[in-house]
Amino acid sequence: MKPAFSSPIPGSGFEVTNYKLKLKPDLTNGTISGSETILLHITESYPDSIAFSGNALVIDRANLDGLPVTPVSDADRIVFPMPRKLAKNSPVTIELTYHGRPERGFSRSVTTLYTSYFACDWMVCLQDKFSNKAAFSLELQVPAGMQTASIGKLVSKRPGPGGSEIQSWEAPRPYSSYLYGFAVGHFASVSENVGTVKLTYLSDAVDKAVLKQHFATTPEMVRFLSDKAGLPLPVTEYTQILVSGNEAQEAATYSVIGADELPKNHNDPADDWVIVHELTHEWWGNLITCETLNDFWLNEGITTFMTAAWKEYRYGHAAYDAELAVSQRRWDKIKSQGFDEPLTWSGPYPSLSIRRAIQYNKGAIFMAYLRDTLGDAAFWKGLRDYTRAHAGGTVTSIDLERAMEAASGKNLHNIFVQWVFGNGGNTARQSIYQKTK
Ligand SMILES: [Zn+2]
Repeated sequence: MKPAFSSPIPGSGFEVTNYKLKLKPDLTNGTISGSETILLHITESYPDSIAFSGNALVIDRANLDGLPVTPVSDADRIVFPMPRKLAKNSPVTIELTYHGRPERGFSRSVTTLYTSYFACDWMVCLQDKFSNKAAFSLELQVPAGMQTASIGKLVSKRPGPGGSEIQSWEAPRPYSSYLYGFAVGHFASVSENVGTVKLTYLSDAVDKAVLKQHFATTPEMVRFLSDKAGLPLPVTEYTQILVSGNEAQEAATYSVIGADELPKNHNDPADDWVIVHELTHEWWGNLITCETLNDFWLNEGITTFMTAAWKEYRYGHAAYDAELAVSQRRWDKIKSQGFDEPLTWSGPYPSLSIRRAIQYNKGAIFMAYLRDTLGDAAFWKGLRDYTRAHAGGTVTSIDLERAMEAASGKNLHNIFVQWVFGNGGNTARQSIYQKTK
C-alpha cells in the first residue's frame, strides 16, 4: 500500500539539532537495540512528512511530539508522517525504539565491535546531509568490565540491568552524522598528553608496549598539523583504536586504524600514511566539513595532500614528491581510461576507485599545484585563514578559492574553473601537474 504522504529527500525541510541514543549492542549476533530521541526544527512550512536515511533496522515504536506515528521505510529513506500541521521553525521531538542488524559500518571480531562511516545504518540519522551538524550523546549498555569508546568524553558509568554497565558519552560540539560512532571490547590502553590534549591508543590484539610503538609519532603529527592549520587539535581527547584488517576510518574524535595499514617497518615513508591521514581529518573533514558530497575533495584531497606535507616535514622533500607521485599515478590511470572530471563534479562516478582518484588524488595534486603557484608563504597563510574562518562549520570550494585569493592577492578564478568547477559541466581537460624543481 502506498503511503498517503510524499517521500521527500532525507533531511530536506528540517534541521536536526540533537541526537540522544541509548543502545545495547550485541557482540555475539552483530545486532543492536535501543532508543533514540531526535530534536529538530522545521525549515519549510507545513510538510506532510519528513525523511531520514534508509536502513535495515526495525522501528518498534515511534512518537512525534508525543503522538504515535507509523514510519514507512524503503532502501533510501525512513519517512515519518507529520501528525499535525507545523509552521517553519517549529521544534519537533521524535522518539523511537528500534532493533536489528545494521547492514554496513558494523564490524566485529570475537571480542570487539566497532562502527565505521555508515552511522545511519545503526541509528536513525542523515548519512549524506553533511551540512546538518548536530549534538550527539550515547549511552552504551555493555557487560560489566567491557570498555567502550565513542564521540567526545566518557561522562559517566553506572550499573545497568542484569549486571550490565551503562557508559555515557557526549560529543564536545555538533558533528555531521557520518562522524558518529562507537566501539566496544576489551582493550589494552595507553594514554599520553601533548600540551592540554590527551591521546589514547586502544587495541584488542597487541600489548601496551607495541601499541605505544605503533603510535609513537602521533604527538609530533599533532604539533605539525596544528601549526599548518593555525589551530590546535580541535578536541581535548583523541583516541586511535587499532583493529585487525585494513580499516582506515575517522570518526568525530577518534579513528579506527587497521593493523594492515600500518608501516611494516618503522620510519618507512612509503608505508607511513594512515595515522596522519585520519588525524588530519580532525581539522579538514571533522571540524571543517564539505557541505555536500560534491565538495568531498575538500575533506579528502586536502587530507591526502597534508599526508605528503607531513612526509616532507618528517623525511625530507623526496618523500613529499614520492607521495604526490602516488596520487599522480592514480589520477593518470583513470585519465588513461578516458575519465577525468573537475573536483566538484556531482557524478555519478563509474566506481568508488574512480571517485577516489578524483576526490583524493587529483585533489591532492591540485593542492600541490596551488602551493607551487602561490609560493609557500601565501599558500600556507591561505590554508590557515580558510581553516580558522570555517572552524566548526561547513564549506564549499568557493571558500577555499576566496581564502587563497585573499592570502596571495591573485585572481584564481581561471585556475579554480579549470581544476575545481569545470566549464558549464563539460569534462575538464587539464595538463598533468608537472613538478618544477
Ligand atoms: Zn580520508
